Amino acid sequence: MEDFESLLASSAQAHGHLCPGQVIGVRMAMLGCALVGLDNPRSLPQLKKLIVYVEMDRCAADAVAHVTGVKLGRRSLKFMDYGIMAATFVNLETGRAFRVLSTEESRDLAALYAPEVVGKSAQQLEAYRRMPDEVLFRVQEVRVAIDPLDLPGPTRRKTACIRCGQIVRDGKEVHTPEGPLCVPCARGAYFTCVREVSVNEALKTGPSKILSSTAHRA
Ligand SMILES: [Zn+2]
Ligand SMILES: [Zn+2]
Repeated sequence: MEDFESLLASSAQAHGHLCPGQVIGVRMAMLGCALVGLDNPRSLPQLKKLIVYVEMDRCAADAVAHVTGVKLGRRSLKFMDYGIMAATFVNLETGRAFRVLSTEESRDLAALYAPEVVGKSAQQLEAYRRMPDEVLFRVQEVRVAIDPLDLPGPTRRKTACIRCGQIVRDGKEVHTPEGPLCVPCARGAYFTCVREVSVNEALKTGPSKILSSTAHRA
């Protein structure tokens, strides 16, 4: 694995800026990988041995993904929407897993570790570079029971929703007495469908016009 400073530099570039979250995320990932015994997770064969669960969609999550090389599209990155500054590193080969949590104390201690730095964000950034792992993180050895349907590899199952016909992959359908449903049909979704439009109509009319014409009718 590259050293901390070069990982931080490339992570900040990929993320878009250098921030305290990049420092925490890079260090979290380096520690997590060391704990599960993977020193080169971005290349084969280790690339196929690591799954990471991130528990926040904040700056640090990008750094964790960057350093470890895990990706949503490879199913090696799992997002758990907990709002907790933590990530769990699972070695699929050994089955060992460690959850690394960023401590709240580290925020309070930033002034102690970088007293000469002015500005909260700059002070945190520098302090998080200097803090020992034991101050910056808590670590739990954990067990993660990964459903075989959630593992990397080809799609294992496809099911059609009996209400809308949509194909649902990898066992994500909801089983009901009537039959399998997609999640939007079974539980509602993050969106409400205004109406179905053809791609050509949508491109010609433009999104604002489609919305306003619909708003007019409503
Ligand atoms: Zn950031
Ligand atoms: Zn459906």
